[in-house]
Amino acid sequence: MTARDAAPSPRTRLQRHPERGSHERARVRDILDQGLVAHVGLAGPEGPFVLPMAYARVADELVLHGSRGSRLMQELASGAPVCVTVTLVDGLVIARSAFRCSMNYRSVVVFGRARSVDGADEKRRLLDLFVRRLTLGVSPRAASDEELAATAVVALELTESSAKLRSGGPRDLPGDLESNTWAGEVPLRVVQLAPRAEPDVPQTAIPPLLSDGLAG
Ligand SMILES: Cc1cc2nc3c(=O)[nH]c(=O)nc-3n(C[C@H](O)[C@H](O)[C@H](O)COP(=O)(O)OP(=O)(O)OC[C@H]3O[C@@H](n4cnc5c(N)ncnc54)[C@H](O)[C@@H]3O)c2cc1C
Repeated sequence: MTARDAAPSPRTRLQRHPERGSHERARVRDILDQGLVAHVGLAGPEGPFVLPMAYARVADELVLHGSRGSRLMQELASGAPVCVTVTLVDGLVIARSAFRCSMNYRSVVVFGRARSVDGADEKRRLLDLFVRRLTLGVSPRAASDEELAATAVVALELTESSAKLRSGGPRDLPGDLESNTWAGEVPLRVVQLAPRAEPDVPQTAIPPLLSDGLAG
């Protein structure tokens, strides 16, 4: 445990399968760095809602961005309580009994209240990191002042966070092991395929940054 590792709070303490849980910051960061989509849950006036978003982890914060006009960003920027989850699906677990079928995964849950990033320098810096992550390091034109003004950026600390992981095959009951049903794992992963350039891109070679992660 390092100084950064949060002790579990009452709401991040795992009750169900606590042996699969972790509050190590390094573990939380690692899962966040491999994910692409965050599900952002808020309690709106008409009830809870959860929306998928792109995100980036910067140091010990999760950074989200969106239109200043979006309800979601306005709620986040106002510091409303939020719960964010990120999930990596690692496989399907097929057991000999329906009850024991499962999924392999690594997931993170973060609770808190985001802060609105309003200072122009910090906003540009976080947006730049955000975009570079989603473009695999390729640098598009930076946002103009008008584009920056139209964009809301918020950052959510990882202080109250948890990770949960399941791996391995099914945990079948001894009584089911004699069954002749197939059992095992079907590994799954997100795979990067060959990039497709826009027809009017003058440069024909794929930037090395984009070919590095290609599936072999
Ligand atoms: C891809 C995927 C599929 C799943 N499918 C199912 C399913 O079909 N049925 C099912 O019952 N459960 C499923 N789970 C597990 C589910 O996320 C919960 O962990 C589980 O249902 C226990 O819920 P609970 O409210 O009793 O958890 P509790 O242990 O009471 O949760 C307490 C706290 O532990 C932490 N925590 C709990 N779950 C997670 C998590 N997954 N990741 C990070 N932190 C967590 C949170 O901080 C939470 O507030 C799945 C998980 C993933 C990632």
